[in-house]
Amino acid sequence: VSAPVATLLVERAAALVTVADGRPGPFAGPRQGELGLVADGAVAADAAGRIIAVGPTAAVRAAVALAPDACVLDATGCCVLPGFVDPHTHAIFAGDRADELAERLAGADYLAILAAGGGILRTVRATRAATAEALVARAAGFLAEMLRHGTTTVEIKSGYGLSVAEELKLLEVARALAERGPQTIVATVLGAHAVPPEWRHAPEGYVAQVIQELLPRVAAADLARFCDVFCERGVFSVEQSRRILQAGAALGLRPKIHAEQKSAFGGTQLAAELGAVSADHLEYASEADIAALATAGTVAVLLPGAAFVLGEERLAPARALVAAGVPVALATDFNPGTCPILSMPLIIGLACLRRQLTPAEAVVAATRNAAYALGLGDDLGSLEVGKRADLVVLDAPAPGHLPYWFGRNLVRTVVKDGRIVWSS
Ligand SMILES: [Zn+2]
Repeated sequence: VSAPVATLLVERAAALVTVADGRPGPFAGPRQGELGLVADGAVAADAAGRIIAVGPTAAVRAAVALAPDACVLDATGCCVLPGFVDPHTHAIFAGDRADELAERLAGADYLAILAAGGGILRTVRATRAATAEALVARAAGFLAEMLRHGTTTVEIKSGYGLSVAEELKLLEVARALAERGPQTIVATVLGAHAVPPEWRHAPEGYVAQVIQELLPRVAAADLARFCDVFCERGVFSVEQSRRILQAGAALGLRPKIHAEQKSAFGGTQLAAELGAVSADHLEYASEADIAALATAGTVAVLLPGAAFVLGEERLAPARALVAAGVPVALATDFNPGTCPILSMPLIIGLACLRRQLTPAEAVVAATRNAAYALGLGDDLGSLEVGKRADLVVLDAPAPGHLPYWFGRNLVRTVVKDGRIVWSS
């Protein structure tokens, strides 16, 4: 039997973070902090971009045959880890809301700004006015910046169109971004992000339009993998959210939900009831909510950037989630209103520095568990034979340097599907 042929070999890493222990599934409870570290580690990939060997450098060298034109990367002194997976972003939009920050700093409330026609609805006006080409160009710039910070897989929600035609336009933009690459892009339909101004006095009419027109067209054109709802006081009720998510699920769009961000409202229980792939935000989640997520096997996606930018005193109960055995993931929530952060290392830093997660738990949350929050955990998010060779080489010897050098970008090289796609 001849050895598999490697077209990429990354070797001699001071610390190779596999985030793997040979068993499938997200890492929860005590496993939340399992990095699967290999000293003097290496990883090899084939021409198809899949990992064919991973382990100590000597063992990987012995297990593969190098292709004549193989790319060999010496990672001496560096930490190598799976490419970051950002499982919650709103990266397709026009305009900005820099002046709204000043309003909020002066005391204006986020939901009050939205109720007055600002906030999300302002971005909706700008986004509707933009062409699909302009939105692709803008978002591609954001994705390139994410790539430089090590993010190789990105979930993108619609939600700034808020009509059938405009939401479809945004999901077509997401498809165009996916075709451009290099990142893996996962689209989510978030038609229920806010009630659009046209339906302000008849929100039920908009809910009906989402259920009867938008979701069937999204599913028919295979434009999204997930269906999401902003379940919150003054936005969409639990009952409306249930109907929208059930309608999506019946069409093959798995449920996700914005839950318990600004108040204890019931979205987390709904996520558990519907078997949602993830429940996101969770600042106001209760002990009962946490127990329900643990039973349902739903991934908790925490968004510490949004809580930080909004000046929220109340943080998601990360320690209680880990203690209860709920797999915890991290995401940027990148959007023009509540979180302009698009760096996963910065999010890892926030999660640690606000004493929510240990550095090891945060790295697991930003890689393996984030992949499971997108239903992609069997394909990427960890360094294991057969998975996509998506990885990041850090200009630092250990993963603990990510939160430690808070605000710095330590990413030296990014590999996607076995090919170097960015290098400092
Ligand atoms: Zn969001």
